[in-house]
Amino acid sequence: MDRYDAIVVGAGNGGLTSAAWLAKEGKKVLLVERHNLPGGFATSFKRGRFEFEASLHELCGWGRSPGEGSVRKILEQIGAADKVEMCRIPAAYRVITMNDKENIDVTMPFGINEFTDKMEELVPGSRPSVEKFFKLCSDVVKTSAFMGEIGGKFDKAAISAVLNEHMDFVRVAGYTVNEVFDALNMPQKAKDILSAYWSYLGEPLSELGFVHYASMMNTYIEGGAGGCGRIRL
Ligand SMILES: Cc1cc2nc3c(=O)[nH]c(=O)nc-3n(C[C@H](O)[C@H](O)[C@H](O)COP(=O)(O)OP(=O)(O)OC[C@H]3O[C@@H](n4cnc5c(N)ncnc54)[C@H](O)[C@@H]3O)c2cc1C
Repeated sequence: MDRYDAIVVGAGNGGLTSAAWLAKEGKKVLLVERHNLPGGFATSFKRGRFEFEASLHELCGWGRSPGEGSVRKILEQIGAADKVEMCRIPAAYRVITMNDKENIDVTMPFGINEFTDKMEELVPGSRPSVEKFFKLCSDVVKTSAFMGEIGGKFDKAAISAVLNEHMDFVRVAGYTVNEVFDALNMPQKAKDILSAYWSYLGEPLSELGFVHYASMMNTYIEGGAGGCGRIRL
């Protein structure tokens, strides 16, 4: 303890960020990693002429320009944003499904308006339910931010703010993604296309709480994603 102010165990994204933040604040930090590479899940390795991504392949929270996106803001605050070159991923995802009735092979764009327009083109009549879906997603994100601001302390003022301003969150909080899709009367094909990101959270949408999916969908589709980062040291 006489040599370091803080010891951070594990150099994944979380540990790297914490250690960099502490160092930026002038603390003496020891960051320890048991692997021979930093990055944790956000790393890659080479075998012969191939480079493999261990897991993370695109990063949301980069926003569209400086000052935007939660991840970019953190890197800006620790003075590292200008050392990272991030390329923008051109489209949200391509979804291919095969079933008895219809095969789907579509590429969905980033941007909530662009995504909603494309969905209407692919599934005529889907617009009202998809618009309501993204409105709920946005409400979930705003409510989560509000809960962060109050530090989880629910006094009378906070409860009244939730009831007055964040009632949509309360309405959906106890339901799964599929239950909310059904309540919105979303056409089946639109549900199939909107379900593609389930694999990011690893749970079937019949089980997954809506707020988790909503928060992720809003962040990715609204802000886009970056990838293929190059780091200048
Ligand atoms: C298959 C997959 C795909 C994913 N895709 C994406 C994606 O596309 N976009 C996205 O944003 N996120 C994605 N994620 C999530 C993202 O990769 C993780 O949330 C994030 O990298 C986790 O960072 P972390 O620092 O919390 O943990 P980790 O990355 O797990 O880091 C923990 C580190 O601690 C080290 N460690 C553990 N114990 C010790 C110890 N006792 N001593 C020393 N070191 C120790 C480990 O070796 C590791 O390096 C994906 C995850 C998976 C599994």
